Amino acid sequence: MEQYIPSKLLSNAVDQFAKLPGVGRRTALRLVLELLKRDENSVTAFANSITELKQNIRTCKICGNLSDSETCSICTNHSRNHSLVCVVENVRDIIAIEQTGTYRGTYHVLGGLISPMDGIGPSELNISSLTQRIEQGGIDEIIFALSANMEGDTTCFYLSRLISGKGIKISQIARGVAFGGDLEYTDEITLSRSIENRTEYGGSL
Ligand SMILES: [Zn+2]
Repeated sequence: MEQYIPSKLLSNAVDQFAKLPGVGRRTALRLVLELLKRDENSVTAFANSITELKQNIRTCKICGNLSDSETCSICTNHSRNHSLVCVVENVRDIIAIEQTGTYRGTYHVLGGLISPMDGIGPSELNISSLTQRIEQGGIDEIIFALSANMEGDTTCFYLSRLISGKGIKISQIARGVAFGGDLEYTDEITLSRSIENRTEYGGSL
C-alpha cells in the first residue's frame, strides 16, 4: 500500500532520504519527522553540513584520500612512514585500517578495481598518480590490501608488473584470514594481524 504523506514538502524530504542506500521509505519518514522536531538552527546545521561537504571536500592530490585541503592529513603527517604505501580500493578501506591504530605508513586509493567485465580498465583508476609517486622515489615497500577476488587479483597482478624492477618490495596483506570481500567488514584485530603478517607478493594470477 502506498505510504500516506499529508504534505508535499514532507514527501519531497522523504524522497531524498529514501534515495540513500539501505534507507526504505518508512525509515526515511521516521528520520524526516525526527528532523522536524528539532529547532531550526539544528536543521540548518544538518543541511549545511551536507552542502559544504559536497562543495568543499577534496581528493588528496598525492594519495586520493578525502581531504579538506590539497593534501590529506595522512600525507602531511611527518610522523607517518612515507616509504611504506598501502594500496586500497576506496576511502572506506583507509578508515577501516586506521581504526586498527597499528598501521603507520601511508596509502594510495585506487578508486576501484580492474574489472574488464564492467569496463573498468587501469586508466579508469587512480594509477598514474601511484606511478608518479614511485618515480619521485622514497618508497621502499608497497602493500596490496585489495579484495581477495578476481578483480582484486587482476589489479594486484597489473600493479606488480608496473612496480617490479624498481627496487621496491611488493607485499600483500595475509590472505589466510576470511576477508569476506571488503576490508571494512573485517574486525580490527584480524585486519591488524593481516597487515602485520603480510607476505611478499607472489606475482601470478
Ligand atoms: Zn593523501
